[in-house]
Amino acid sequence: MATRILTGYRPTGKLHLGHLHGNLMRMMELQEEAECFFFIADWHALTTDYQDPSRLRTFTEEMVLDWLAAGIDPDKATIYRQSDLPEVAEFQLYLSMITPLGWLERVPSFKEQQEQLRGREIATHGFLGYPVLQAADILIVRAEGVPVGEDQLPHLELTREIVRRFNHLYGETFAEPQSLLSTAPRIPGTDGRKMSKSYGNQISLSDPPEEIRRKVLSMITDPARRTRRDPGDPGKCSVFELHRLYTGDRVEEIAEKCRTAGWGCVECKEVLAGRISDSLRAFRERRKELEARPGTAWEVLESGLRKVRPIAGEVLGEVRRRMGMD
Ligand code: SF4
Repeated sequence: MATRILTGYRPTGKLHLGHLHGNLMRMMELQEEAECFFFIADWHALTTDYQDPSRLRTFTEEMVLDWLAAGIDPDKATIYRQSDLPEVAEFQLYLSMITPLGWLERVPSFKEQQEQLRGREIATHGFLGYPVLQAADILIVRAEGVPVGEDQLPHLELTREIVRRFNHLYGETFAEPQSLLSTAPRIPGTDGRKMSKSYGNQISLSDPPEEIRRKVLSMITDPARRTRRDPGDPGKCSVFELHRLYTGDRVEEIAEKCRTAGWGCVECKEVLAGRISDSLRAFRERRKELEARPGTAWEVLESGLRKVRPIAGEVLGEVRRRMGMD
């Protein structure tokens, strides 16, 4: 098990169920067993949202409050904002000198994201180079492990290639970080696609119960159930995917009622909405308490910065020496 872990989140607004099951629960486990660095990746957010940075600050604050309300403990994990650490930017510059263009162009997500974000004008130097920025994020704290989903493995492999090239050119300096592959379930959004803010299909952790209910009731179900009397197939319904996580004790009964048209989709969704809402009650209460203390998020980021800065300074100092820049 790696002992120093790093993970970052783009500040894109309030966290949702996809984040909770995707990475947040893992972060809470990791903070108990390893030295953790959790950062707000605001420079990464700029690579795709540079045209409208007006809400970055608010999103940063909201994300820190969500982390804290979910149970991330600033006494156990070091929490900081990427742009407060200019050492990362200088380091990225050095790494960009040694990273061949072809390595970046072949990262699968480069082409995929360009397709998905068509119309956003992201054919930029910054967007192409963001895997180098990720490498700088990881190596500036000498992280040994990085929690990733399968789709992010090529990015981490690129960091490992950069490490090998750096060590080859300037002498053994960095260890190759290892991936901590996530086994998190896929969380469907209200439209059945993967839950994501960019699709606008998310259930946020801080949504009040009536909002959760409204969203769950709007969820796409098995299209074969056109009327209350039509039997359904839970395997084709995204509501059922969420039942598996939130109503595990009744999952057989729910599947049976669906297959036999024993109840309607509205009743089925009401049960799910209630369970999701109950599971987030403690989160909502903690979030309210934190909101009542303005400045909390910024204090946490400041204190995290004080902890990470000496490490980043030491690493950058060594990089400068190795590259003749001291
Ligand atoms: S009864 Fe429930 S599981 Fe079955 S199709 Fe309707 S919402 Fe989905």
